[in-house]
Amino acid sequence: MSEPAGLNTLCVHAAHAPEAATGAVAAPIHLSTTFERDADGEYPRGYRYSREGTPNRTALEACLAQLEGGVGAAAFASGLAANMAVLELLAAGDRLIASQEGYYGSLRQFSVFAERRGARIEFVDLADAARVEAVLKGGTARPRLLWIETPTNPLLNVVDLPALVELGHRAGALVVCDNTFATPVCQRPFESGVDLIIHSGTKYLGGHSDVLAGVVAVREDAALLGRLQEWQRMAGAALAPFDCWLLRRSLATLALRVRAQCAGAAKVAAFLARHPAVERVFYPGLREHPGHTIALRQMRGGFGGMLSVCVAGGREAALRVAARTRLFTRATSLGGVESLIEHRASIEGPGTRAPENLLRLSVGIEEPEDLIADLTQALG
Ligand SMILES: *Cc1c(COP(=O)(O)O)cnc(C)c1O
Repeated sequence: MSEPAGLNTLCVHAAHAPEAATGAVAAPIHLSTTFERDADGEYPRGYRYSREGTPNRTALEACLAQLEGGVGAAAFASGLAANMAVLELLAAGDRLIASQEGYYGSLRQFSVFAERRGARIEFVDLADAARVEAVLKGGTARPRLLWIETPTNPLLNVVDLPALVELGHRAGALVVCDNTFATPVCQRPFESGVDLIIHSGTKYLGGHSDVLAGVVAVREDAALLGRLQEWQRMAGAALAPFDCWLLRRSLATLALRVRAQCAGAAKVAAFLARHPAVERVFYPGLREHPGHTIALRQMRGGFGGMLSVCVAGGREAALRVAARTRLFTRATSLGGVESLIEHRASIEGPGTRAPENLLRLSVGIEEPEDLIADLTQALG
């Protein structure tokens, strides 16, 4: 598109047009693993073998790059497969500096992978700029990656992206931001100078709890994009055609869904913050949230659809509330059109930072009043 387009317009039209051969308005799914060569042996249409690339993956990746505002994107078979492609940038002896709080699957992956690779991982509180600076400067090995998640899972902590980018770049590190919770609808990490954006596409990008996917988007470094694409091919980690099609189809409604989820979560958070059976609510949109001032600057499209609550009365009381909800389904994961509720500590197991009385809520697109009625009866 030559004119700059609004988000909903991009969601519908980015890298999508009626198919030339048939006029089909909905994109076809190309399952072919192999593509015909010309008589002279060339591949004039660009496709050769599906591990290297498929029409559905091309369309999806172009759309994702436009939505995040980067030079390109690579789609993977899961969020952790996307993480892995970035972790592959670490050489033996390199340092990875990561948030001490974040998606537990990522944190475990970092520890196991770094140990096997001979890289060093340091978990720090990314809200403590002085500490981050000291860790980046300290040590003899180069800090290769500064890995940020904001807002974090499950405490919804918000850290200052431009400030961390400045510190990371000064130390010579690539800065990575996991934008799964915020989505490009709420937060634009490339505008803060972040180098790489990660998504678990399984969550808001997919939005219907029916596709496992991961994304790495690259702000401007074409060589870096090439290195990630090499890993897609060499590891065979790329997203399959049907899943690419599902994800691209879901992106058409991304902004509609996420804006509705932000509005719903704000109402649910305000209700819970006043409820006597609730000790504490974690939602970046609440004025009392410690990251609210940064969130106002940084999450200009909305505060997201995720929130957590600490229920008065401890673990048993929290489990009782989760047992009584009817519209909120007890399940892990997030970002779908249906609301989910989860006792996070028991999913994460030993070593969890989630309080025992914490429930994490993923607010779907149901009417907020119905969700509030459900929580009212569940809280008793
Ligand atoms: C779910 C999640 C991941 C991992 O993604 P998968 O698609 O489950 O592999 C990474 N980061 C965050 C913030 C997540 O919520």
